[in-house]
Amino acid sequence: MELQRLEAARAYAREQEDVLVALIKELCKIPAPSHQEGQRAAFIKNWFEKNGFSGVTIDAAQNVIAPVHCAPNREVVVFMAHTDTVFPDLEPMPMRQENGRLYCPGVGDDTANLAALMLAARYFNAQPQTADCGFLFVANSCEEGLGNLKGCRQLMQDYAGRVREVISFDGSLGSVCNKAVGSARYRVTVRTEGGHSFGAFGNRNAIHMLASMINTLYAVKPPAEGNSKTTYNVGSIEGGTSVNTIAQEASMLYEYRSDCRSCLDQMKAMFESVVAAYRNMGIAVEVTLLGERPCMGEVDPARQQALEARMTAALQSETGLTPSFHSSSTDCNIPFSCGIPALSTGIYRGSGAHTREEFIELASLPDGLRTMLAFLLSYLGA
Ligand SMILES: [Zn+2]
Repeated sequence: MELQRLEAARAYAREQEDVLVALIKELCKIPAPSHQEGQRAAFIKNWFEKNGFSGVTIDAAQNVIAPVHCAPNREVVVFMAHTDTVFPDLEPMPMRQENGRLYCPGVGDDTANLAALMLAARYFNAQPQTADCGFLFVANSCEEGLGNLKGCRQLMQDYAGRVREVISFDGSLGSVCNKAVGSARYRVTVRTEGGHSFGAFGNRNAIHMLASMINTLYAVKPPAEGNSKTTYNVGSIEGGTSVNTIAQEASMLYEYRSDCRSCLDQMKAMFESVVAAYRNMGIAVEVTLLGERPCMGEVDPARQQALEARMTAALQSETGLTPSFHSSSTDCNIPFSCGIPALSTGIYRGSGAHTREEFIELASLPDGLRTMLAFLLSYLGA
């Protein structure tokens, strides 16, 4: 029985090879920068409705939600893939197919995973529903950068207390994120009295003060606990008026990250103490929080391992690969921070995510779609 169901799913994956490529191309043509996913969301909702789903909704954050076997108060497992891309373009982006590769910005991250999830959802929805939980297939918004995980936050809030597990299809085949990297991102603006470079010489210079602050921040040795990793970065600076003006204002973009909650807390305390020290010198320092991604909460290790084993089994049965596990900053940060088991992985091989040279290897898609189907069917006892 079990093998029969898997064989049927494999046959479906074979049948759908061309359909999957066509759907990826169709989605790629619909621009979807973070916070502007509306057009892509409308297409996806319409697709689900035409493909046998009922009760499909678009929520306040532009998440498209297609429920399967859901009932009020029944627990749900969430399968998601994000609709947004890092590119601000509002025109369709250039696409080309060459030597077995499909090139287009956003094609792998996360369009290929999203298209596969839609086709796998259609197959899953047509199976007898035997699980003791419901399922949400979600095309979510705002995973990237300053989208700040808005879509996933909305979802976790709306389904609070009912989410059993979250699987985000994001990333490439065989690579699995099972640990959150938390982060905080700031704009820091320093203001001083400034003045004429000759006439007011001796007044404090905002550029000098900012540079000095950066120096202090870079003197910090990142905290370490176990095999955790903690990093920081000043990514951009600006300021000043002219060559003969003592700068009145200078600002920077600063971030820190860690896959360890207490290290992240230590970085925060360190940053705040540096800011306080400059304020104590009478410097005006304005700090704006641009984004914050939480770290791991108290996730039950046994439940997390069971989820990882489920994904490992699907990957091994369909590709013979063993997954490599790593920590990263993904939509899973939100469930992880709430103590919900989660993981993030993808269905394609490719390269160049977040660049305009991004591509996917078309030959990898059948392996990926089969793996996704085997994983989903495992929830139905297959
Ligand atoms: Zn992504």
